[in-house]
Amino acid sequence: MTLSKEFRDEMKASMIAEKARLESELGRFADKTAVPGEYETRFEEIGTDRDDNATEVEQYADNIALEENLEGQLGDVTEALVRIENDTYGVCITCGADMEEGRLRAFPAAKECMSCLKK
Ligand SMILES: [Zn+2]
Repeated sequence: MTLSKEFRDEMKASMIAEKARLESELGRFADKTAVPGEYETRFEEIGTDRDDNATEVEQYADNIALEENLEGQLGDVTEALVRIENDTYGVCITCGADMEEGRLRAFPAAKECMSCLKK
């Protein structure tokens, strides 16, 4: 492990902030479930006429797609925070190479190095 403690602390702080941001974003339209990190999109009632119903369904479909995207990001950040605690942070999960600071700074929750990502 070649990353300094300072660098890991910095990434940890930025990921904790990112995790809070993702959770609050998800909380706007989805509820937490019993499974940690899993959310369920709420179906918002806008009105009862046909146009309202169509809008509700459309909105719901958009929110489910957004929920999956945010949930995926939240999962990556949560796993990366675990790797910080386990002292395996910054190591590519595929090839085991140390990742560069630049890669991690651009994307702190990165789990693969650039060459594995391109495969
Ligand atoms: Zn790799």
